[in-house]
Amino acid sequence: MREFYTILGIETGASASDVRRAYRKLARKYHPDINPGNTAAAERFSRIAEAYEVLCHPRKRDYYDTHGYYDEGALQEKPERRLGFSFEGFAASESEKPGFSELFEDFFAEVRSRRQPPVSIDIEAQVSLTFHESMRGVRAAVPVFRRRACDDCRGLGRRPRARAYACPTCTGSGEIVRSRGRLRFAMTCPECEGGGRLAPACASCRGEGRRASSERAEVDIPAGVASGSRVRYPGRGDTDPGTGRTGDLIVATHVDDDPFFQRVGDNVHCTVPVSVSEASLGARIEVPGLDGALTLKVPPGTQSGQKLRLRGRGAPSLRDSEARGDLYVAIQVVIPRALDERSKEILRELGDLNAVDRERKRARGR
Ligand SMILES: [Zn+2]
Ligand SMILES: [Zn+2]
Repeated sequence: MREFYTILGIETGASASDVRRAYRKLARKYHPDINPGNTAAAERFSRIAEAYEVLCHPRKRDYYDTHGYYDEGALQEKPERRLGFSFEGFAASESEKPGFSELFEDFFAEVRSRRQPPVSIDIEAQVSLTFHESMRGVRAAVPVFRRRACDDCRGLGRRPRARAYACPTCTGSGEIVRSRGRLRFAMTCPECEGGGRLAPACASCRGEGRRASSERAEVDIPAGVASGSRVRYPGRGDTDPGTGRTGDLIVATHVDDDPFFQRVGDNVHCTVPVSVSEASLGARIEVPGLDGALTLKVPPGTQSGQKLRLRGRGAPSLRDSEARGDLYVAIQVVIPRALDERSKEILRELGDLNAVDRERKRARGR
């Protein structure tokens, strides 16, 4: 019979401030925002809120005490009078004891911490590329963990059409009373922002206003990225439910080492073997480039270890899409392992004609 009183754990004769105190105490324990995902707590809280809705309201409480039940519409037949008293039960009364704000300090702290916008709404992902992919640019699908505005509540975190309940922090008044020494002042309730009422938390996002999902983001990696490059894709990060703003996706690239090409800045280095006669007499040889074979002119008398430059054949610059670095080709002269008598004969003859005694002496003298 006195079910609402039992739910709030109070006597049938409890005063209005006892009702409020009981509601606050229970709300602190069973409020859905404090128990995300706990359906038992949510159910319990909705019964607590329902009981408080009636018992905090003198006319509704009267009706309930007389009839043993209350439903919306019971007092509906006198709409002009409803206006007069609809807020009297919620008024911040003089009976508020100093110390109440201290009691709720931790509750506010919890509410505030949940409402603080995330530190960053940018998200990060990593992608690994081969050297050649990094030179050409590539479309990649990178796994990301992204939080977007909840579709069901449009990011509000509250069920849009559900029945509102009295805010447990201010018990419906929209204001809380704080005291500093002998000073007492009212301030707007931070939980309901002065509205006094809250709709139940959205079940889909548990009141957070956004939902997390693992997805694969298709991104175009520009030509020229190196290991440790960070490419920014605007508007593809997390959504902040408070402001509706969406951050960026930042993709950090890792580029595998290539056995042939080494990148230094925007320049690329490689080593190409050349025969003694090519190095000595000069030649046009074919060398592998970044986008296909290139012709390299080896000048006569080229020494082993000498580097030849192919201008503008290096890595594409990330700063300037038109610009490219250079390709440096290190010459490695391959000394033939003399196999047959004829080759030995030619090499001996070559040695007699091109003695390096002078160079050797000069080297020793240093
Ligand atoms: Zn939602
Ligand atoms: Zn409030």
